[in-house]
Amino acid sequence: MHFRDMFVQNDRTFSFEFFPPRSPALADELMAMMPDFAALRPTFVSVTYGAGGSTRERTHDMVIRLGQVEDVNPVPHLTCVCHDEPEIEAILSRYAAAGLSNIMALRGDMPTSSEPVRTAFRNATELVHAIQRFNQRGEHPHRQGFGIAVAGYPEGHPETANRLLEMDFLKAKVDAGADAIITQLFFDNHDFYDFRERCRLAGIRVPIIAGIMPITSIRGIRRIAELAAGSRYPAPLLRAIGRTDASEEAVRRVGSHWATEQCRDLLDHEVDGIHFYTLNRSTATRDIYLTLGVRDSRALSASGGR
Ligand SMILES: Cc1cc2nc3c(=O)[nH]c(=O)nc-3n(C[C@H](O)[C@H](O)[C@H](O)COP(=O)(O)OP(=O)(O)OC[C@H]3O[C@@H](n4cnc5c(N)ncnc54)[C@H](O)[C@@H]3O)c2cc1C
Repeated sequence: MHFRDMFVQNDRTFSFEFFPPRSPALADELMAMMPDFAALRPTFVSVTYGAGGSTRERTHDMVIRLGQVEDVNPVPHLTCVCHDEPEIEAILSRYAAAGLSNIMALRGDMPTSSEPVRTAFRNATELVHAIQRFNQRGEHPHRQGFGIAVAGYPEGHPETANRLLEMDFLKAKVDAGADAIITQLFFDNHDFYDFRERCRLAGIRVPIIAGIMPITSIRGIRRIAELAAGSRYPAPLLRAIGRTDASEEAVRRVGSHWATEQCRDLLDHEVDGIHFYTLNRSTATRDIYLTLGVRDSRALSASGGR
């Protein structure tokens, strides 16, 4: 289902993000967990893509496998850094032929080597334009072509000089044809509300989906710092973690409680959607639904008070 139709049919969306497992055995393990995720009735699920195409086949294969699970609506991420336009077109053609309805369009992180980066695309706006050119050619089986989501950064992207430029660039991505924004994870909802307000003031009208990642371990905190460079940990969250005995179970409980409170508050503040960074584990997301007292996303959507 195209992103635009999802927002017509649902008051708000609930989605889960996976990364492509490194081996066939791990892929089977993730697929074995899929009934747990599917039982929560996500609006869509997404699969990340290694910048430069490093996970091209694994992302593709996982998305195709997920397409066989009823009602999970898989959305591949696609980063454009280090790709040329014919490569991007070939990837889009494959996804269109497989009947996928949406793409999460990203630039990706620049490679860290000192070699100059050769890339046809300098930013995600240029990728959104390329997807729209593809859509206009009518190769996609659906008349509307691919729906497109792009990334937003409530705390700012580490490479962007200031928040004014940030909004200009985000507006350019949306004006190029994005249907929705999915945000980087954040731990303080005020950052999200402030970002949402600034988007509205800048004339950005598409739905803004909040990215939530429950902390599950001390190792997880380090991983988050690597994945989402610049994410701030609010002092009360750090104090709560500091009070634990640092055991996995204690940290997991604190992380789950914090993320659940974030979700409850977002629902009370008319969020357009919540995107859970699952790290390929179902427990944390399931715990949040359980603690919110709902069986699945439909119940969660109905509980939002819109
Ligand atoms: C929800 C989400 C999912 C993600 N999934 C993945 C994934 O699957 N794989 C992966 O490798 N990474 C992923 N990332 C990380 C992302 O690729 C990095 O943060 C990357 O550095 C920026 O990508 P972007 O699409 O936001 O880039 P852009 O929006 O292109 O921004 C990148 C930089 O370019 C600047 N810029 C943007 N537009 C312009 C312009 N018109 N002119 C000049 N400068 C401009 C911006 O200010 C920013 O500093 C994800 C991030 C999020 C929030």
